[in-house]
Amino acid sequence: MKKFDIPTQYRSNFIKEFKAKRKAEDPRKKDFSPTSVKFLRIEMLYARHFGFCYGVENAIEISYKAIQENKGKNIFLLSQMIHNPHVNQDLQDLGVRFILDTYGNQITPWSKVTKNDVVIIPAFGTTIEIEQRLEKMGLDIQKYNTTCPFVEKVWKTSKKLGQQDYTIIIHGKHKHEETRATFSHSSAYSASVVIKDIKEAKVLAEIMRGKRPSDDFHALFKGRYSEGFNPREDLNRIGVVNQTTMLATETAEIAEFFKQTIIEQHGSEDYKTYFADTRDTLCYATNDNQKSTLELLKQQADIAIVVGGYNSSNTTHLVELCEEQFNTFFISSATDILSANRIQHFDIHEKKTKITEQYFPDKKHPRVIMTSGASCPDSVMQEVTDKILSLHDF
Ligand code: SF4
Repeated sequence: MKKFDIPTQYRSNFIKEFKAKRKAEDPRKKDFSPTSVKFLRIEMLYARHFGFCYGVENAIEISYKAIQENKGKNIFLLSQMIHNPHVNQDLQDLGVRFILDTYGNQITPWSKVTKNDVVIIPAFGTTIEIEQRLEKMGLDIQKYNTTCPFVEKVWKTSKKLGQQDYTIIIHGKHKHEETRATFSHSSAYSASVVIKDIKEAKVLAEIMRGKRPSDDFHALFKGRYSEGFNPREDLNRIGVVNQTTMLATETAEIAEFFKQTIIEQHGSEDYKTYFADTRDTLCYATNDNQKSTLELLKQQADIAIVVGGYNSSNTTHLVELCEEQFNTFFISSATDILSANRIQHFDIHEKKTKITEQYFPDKKHPRVIMTSGASCPDSVMQEVTDKILSLHDF
């Protein structure tokens, strides 16, 4: 895989060393068991895969190149480049400004952006409407386009399905930048609708089968279907794609559910006429990180620490998995570990930060699960490790 030139502040020699060792021992990534590192008292179990993915390193490399090559110019990021507060803050500290927030709300008015400025497209990609707006303004949107190739692959799959006359069902979070971009690109080729989970898949199936009125579709999926979507006609032939960072098991369940629904309607002989039996469009990093986390769940451990941005979809899913088995704390940096007894962490269900007392196991040889999302620098993971050791490993 391509090697990227990213600032050393995001690297960690300690982590690089054990990742390199695992890679040398298992170059074909067959073994997803964790890496155990024993300190004085504590044993840390690091996921086989965690930290920066291809798309994130690519985006960071391009963004720093844009800064380097355009001294004295206004440099804008269309929105958060990736969902990590440290990386975004570093770019802002270097003078980069955001045009939109993570939900598409305006931060810098369009009137303040001129054709002489530089606009960086984030790793999530953007909508066709915004691409056209920027091009109309005379901006070169390809020069510093950091759209991840794995996101573009989803767009290509959607285009192919659309050209074969399938309606696209997108499994994703409709407010997420990537899903907004995918929805825009797939809507250019086909009727499209975004669903967030299996519950919504079941509702959509009832509408498909005429067990619910069409009006329910327009009410329940408001803001999430393409213009002119006609549930009576547009749900006859369907294909499923997904946001690259969804939970693999959930996407598989949704695709299988729709397949069975179509088989019930049309029989198993003919179902491919009505259902595009494609593989999921999760990216390799999501798959590797989730597989590694599933291996972590087989371990005996006292707590799990997951590090990443609170708005990071892939990190949230790692938390969801770890919670099945461990007392899990989702933190964004070492500063969230407030003291030996107190930790500040994000509750993904209540969507707010909390403080928990006595979070660390009071035992002689605690075992701690450690992992992070695809947008979290290894240097942040190293800082978290150091903080835990400084407070507990003596
Ligand atoms: S998580 Fe996957 S799709 Fe997203 S930037 Fe990384 S490699 Fe690309």
